[in-house]
Amino acid sequence: MSHREFDAMVIGSGMGGLAFASIMAKLRRWRVLVLERHFKIGGFTHTFTRPGGWSWDVGLHYVGEMGEGMRGRRLFDFITDGGVKWGPMPDVYDVFVYPTLQVRACKGEANL
Ligand SMILES: Cc1cc2nc3c(=O)[nH]c(=O)nc-3n(C[C@H](O)[C@H](O)[C@H](O)COP(=O)(O)OP(=O)(O)OC[C@H]3O[C@@H](n4cnc5c(N)ncnc54)[C@H](O)[C@@H]3O)c2cc1C
Repeated sequence: MSHREFDAMVIGSGMGGLAFASIMAKLRRWRVLVLERHFKIGGFTHTFTRPGGWSWDVGLHYVGEMGEGMRGRRLFDFITDGGVKWGPMPDVYDVFVYPTLQVRACKGEANL
């Protein structure tokens, strides 16, 4: 493998690196080499499981603007060839718990 075989090299296969590689391959027909030091690609999009059926996100757990036709969704569909399936958020998608205060993050602009 020689660096001359590639138009660009990306260090790290998180969403940023993979998005760049996909966009440049599609729009410019670039050959992009993505280098990753972890045994799994994806950076903070990983999940992992433990015995007993427990599953955790290491980072990303929800993303806005992914409704049909929205700008973020159109961009993501372009980058992934529509390969990522999106589900709706629950009505309460996050709860921030402090010693004297609890804040619920609710779906929809008005509720939020
Ligand atoms: C706990 C947590 C929760 C989050 N929740 C959300 C959320 O709900 N919604 C949302 O939109 N965003 C969320 N984020 C933010 C989002 O996950 C990140 O902004 C995004 O994933 C960053 O992508 P990235 O490509 O910049 O980097 P990363 O995903 O960090 O990827 C970097 C990659 O580079 C690799 N790397 C680093 N150094 C080298 C090297 N020298 N050689 C080779 N490989 C290397 C790493 O192993 C990694 O795979 C969250 C982040 C965290 C930490």
